[in-house]
Amino acid sequence: MFKTFDDLVEQQLAGAQLEREDALAVLAATDDQVLDLVAAAARLRRAHFGDRVKVNYLVNLKSGLCPEDCTYCSQRLGSNAEILTYSWLSPDKVVEQATAGIQGGASRVCLVASGRGPGSRDIDRVATVVDELKSAHPGVEVCACLGLLKEGQADRLSAAGVDAYNHNLNTSEDRYADICSTHTYSDRVDTVELAKRGGLSPCSGLIVGMGESDDELVDAVFALRDLDSDSIPINFLMPFDGTPFADTWLLDPRRCLRILALARFACPATEIRLAGGREMHLRSLQPLALHVANSLFLGDYLTSEGQAAKADLDMIADAGFRVLGTQPDTDDVRVPLALRHRGAGTDHAPNA
Ligand code: SF4
Repeated sequence: MFKTFDDLVEQQLAGAQLEREDALAVLAATDDQVLDLVAAAARLRRAHFGDRVKVNYLVNLKSGLCPEDCTYCSQRLGSNAEILTYSWLSPDKVVEQATAGIQGGASRVCLVASGRGPGSRDIDRVATVVDELKSAHPGVEVCACLGLLKEGQADRLSAAGVDAYNHNLNTSEDRYADICSTHTYSDRVDTVELAKRGGLSPCSGLIVGMGESDDELVDAVFALRDLDSDSIPINFLMPFDGTPFADTWLLDPRRCLRILALARFACPATEIRLAGGREMHLRSLQPLALHVANSLFLGDYLTSEGQAAKADLDMIADAGFRVLGTQPDTDDVRVPLALRHRGAGTDHAPNA
């Protein structure tokens, strides 16, 4: 039976699971249906998150020189991209950078380090940073994004005060080998599961615009649903010079809105975050995207500049939303944090 987008909203509000044919219909929305699609997804967004936007801030603890070969990443093995490379920022510098983001309205700081995964000393380093950060800003949530985890490391991060762990699936299982040869899709799934078992709120998302088909996109979104991720960052491929995806421009603003709507319909109560590449791909439609997503990264990303933080805050206000945690009032009680596992973050050095 033919379903309208409003039928889908009613179905999702009643707790149904989005079916594949409906997911594909969302991606196939014609240009003249896009506003209706956004309005429908906005009903789900408002039902679960009210008028609040969660603001996140990235601090790049360690940049570049990664031995992995993720095709989309400017920090990959052999990348010629012109980025800053450095090894482990001092805790003071991390707190200084994070403070700027918190003062701009961020309620979560995402600590990101390039590399395959942390060693034992790296976990100690992050623990020291988190201790200093939480002493300076007791209410802040901290998400770590350090790569593939080994048994026991999530527990150590959790004990150190880390609230969430980010590790993106990035794309569908079928496409994974096309974008990386140094680790597998199941390695990534395993890390998200380890994070969950260690008491960290799982954050896992996507990079779209890498040539994936609609079916593959639906596979990836359904996999994130099955993984029960608390937050889903959606990165839009930034085709860095010096990487194999240089000059790959497969997205337009309406396609980005359809993808965000797919994530919202599939995971209505999950934090959906506008992540790397939103400015270059959503362009003038970014404010519309806030009616679907309920979270964004403030300002700059890892190895590239986002729009100025003030422009983000103005955009949020102009679209009729408020930053979560900045204006306490009774409305806050109807804004669930969606942190079912405790405490939630971008791909390990995402497309950023
Ligand atoms: S995404 Fe992470 S693991 Fe992959 S190349 Fe970039 S920094 Fe390395």
